[in-house]
Amino acid sequence: MSTTLTNLLNFDLPGLVAYCQSLGEKPFRATQLFRWIHQRGATDFAQMTDLAKSLREKLATQACIEGLKILTQQESRDGTIKWLFDVGDGNAVEAVFIPEDDRGTLCVSSQAGCAVGCRFCSTGHQGFSRNLTTGEIIAQLWFAEHFLRRHLNTSERVITNVVMMGMGEPLQNYAALVPALRTMLDDHGYGLSRRRVTVSTSGVVPMMQRLSQDCPVALAVSLHAPNDGLRDHLVPLNRKYPLDELLQACEAYLEFAPRDFVTFEYCMLDGVNDQPEHAQQLIDLVRRYGKGKAWCKFNLIPFNPFPQSGLLRSGSAAVQRFAQLLNDAGIVTTVRKTRGDDIDAACGQLAGDVKDRTRAAERMAKQRTISVYRAR
Ligand code: SAH
Ligand code: SF4
Repeated sequence: MSTTLTNLLNFDLPGLVAYCQSLGEKPFRATQLFRWIHQRGATDFAQMTDLAKSLREKLATQACIEGLKILTQQESRDGTIKWLFDVGDGNAVEAVFIPEDDRGTLCVSSQAGCAVGCRFCSTGHQGFSRNLTTGEIIAQLWFAEHFLRRHLNTSERVITNVVMMGMGEPLQNYAALVPALRTMLDDHGYGLSRRRVTVSTSGVVPMMQRLSQDCPVALAVSLHAPNDGLRDHLVPLNRKYPLDELLQACEAYLEFAPRDFVTFEYCMLDGVNDQPEHAQQLIDLVRRYGKGKAWCKFNLIPFNPFPQSGLLRSGSAAVQRFAQLLNDAGIVTTVRKTRGDDIDAACGQLAGDVKDRTRAAERMAKQRTISVYRAR
C-alpha cells in the first residue's frame, strides 16, 4: 500500500469522520465517502459525483482506496473461491469464499503467519511474519464482495457472513481487528449483523474480555483438547491461558454475545483427541460451566493434512461416534463439511503452498520434532 497517500480502507466510520474533519469537512461527507467505498466498491474519487468537486480533488492528492495485490484466484468445483493476496516482503494471505444455499461466507485472514504455533495448523508451522493492518483485513471483504457482485452480475449483497478463520490469530491483532469488524457491522459499510460475523480464537483470554466490551460479535473458540495436558501440546497458548481460565472467559463473553452460545471448534486428529474418553472428558468439562444451561456447541473439523504435520485425519466412523456421544449428552454438535478440497482451501491449509520466508519458520521446524500424543 502507498506510503504517501492515506489509504481510506484503514478507517472505520468514526476514523473517516476524524480524517474528514482534519481536511475541514463535515461528518456527513465521511458517511458519503464510506458508502462509496464499501457499499459501491469505488476506487476513484472522480466517480463520487455527490461530493463537491473541490473535495474530490483534495482527496485525490492526499488519499487513496487501495486494495491488496492478487497473486492467484482459484475456483473449486464446489464453487468455493480462494484468493491469495500479496502483502509485501514475500508474505501472502488468503481469503476464501464459501457459497451455500442460504448464505455466502467469507473466511478472512488477520495476520501473515501466526505466532501461536498449533501443531495441526499449516499457518502455525509457517511462524509469524506480521499483523495485517485494518485496511488489509477489510480489503479482503471489500475486494471479494465487489468482485463477486460483478462475477455473478448482481447488485445484491453476496457475502452474508464473515468468519475470522483464515490465517492468523485475530485476537493477537486486536487494534487492527476492531475497526475492521466495526466496518463489517456498520450500516453504512457492509451492514452485517453481529451474529453473522464470527471471531475465532485459540483462546487469548484478556482480549476475549475486551472484545465483549468493544465489539461483541459471535465467538468461536478453538478447543481441540479436553484436558490441559493435551491442549498444552496441541495449542501452545494453553500454557498461558489454561482451560479453566478459557472456559470462564467464554462464560463471561456470553453475557454480551449476540448468540446465546459459544461455538467450540475441535479438529479431529486420529488417535490423538478423537477417542470416546476424550468425548467424555469434554462433556464433563463443559458441564462445569454455564450454570447448568446448554451454553456451547461443538463443530468437529476433520483434520486437513499437510506435509510435515505428522498427524492423520480421524476416520469418519470415529468422527461420527464422537459427535454422537456429545449429542447424546445434549451438546449440539455438527461435523464441518470440507469445502474447496481440490484447491487446498480447507481450514488450516491456507497458504500452505506459499514459499515460506520467515525466520520464525526455522524455530518452528525445531519444535516440530515433538512426539505426537497418542491416546492410551
Ligand atoms: N487462529 C484462529 C482462527 C484461524 S484458524 C483460531 O485458531 O481459532 C480457524 C480454524 O481452523 C481453527 O479452529 C483451527 O484450529 C482450525 N484448523 C487449523 N488447522 C487445521 C487443519 N489442518 N485441519 C483442520 N482444521 C484446522
Ligand atoms: Fe494460529 Fe489458529 Fe493456526 Fe493456531 S490454529 S496456529 S491460532 S491460525
